[in-house]
Amino acid sequence: MNKQSSDFSELDDLYQEIILDHYRSPRNQKKLDTVDIAAEGFNPFCGDKVLLSIKLEDNVVEQVSFEGNGCSISQASASMLTNLIKGETLDKARSLYSSFRELMHGTPKETLDDLGEAEALEGVRQFPIRIKCALLAWVALEDGIKKYTNVT
Ligand code: ZN
Repeated sequence: MNKQSSDFSELDDLYQEIILDHYRSPRNQKKLDTVDIAAEGFNPFCGDKVLLSIKLEDNVVEQVSFEGNGCSISQASASMLTNLIKGETLDKARSLYSSFRELMHGTPKETLDDLGEAEALEGVRQFPIRIKCALLAWVALEDGIKKYTNVT
């Protein structure tokens, strides 16, 4: 069994498919010309790296892209994140971050924002060491927004 399939052997098949689809064809990889928020995340446990770039227009995420490498969960999660925050306000982006973090901690979905495909990562919480992978891009996003809003 290769490493990739062992990451997922316990996850629901449909969820696996969504995650692998994002991993193999990550969304929003086009480099931006102007970057208002750049946020980097690094997870030494499996060497995951994510760099998020956001272009804002009136505090709305007008464009977003990411680059990175690492395990399938970290990269799929980053790809899903970019899809979710595009067109949203920074406040909404932070709220999505909180909801995703809560999802990883087992809070019932009904009380959370709609996380779309990112809900496919719910099963990751059965593997505590992989939660860091799933949260990597999200934590970078939260840090980046915090820094940005503190200086403006
Ligand atoms: Zn990882």
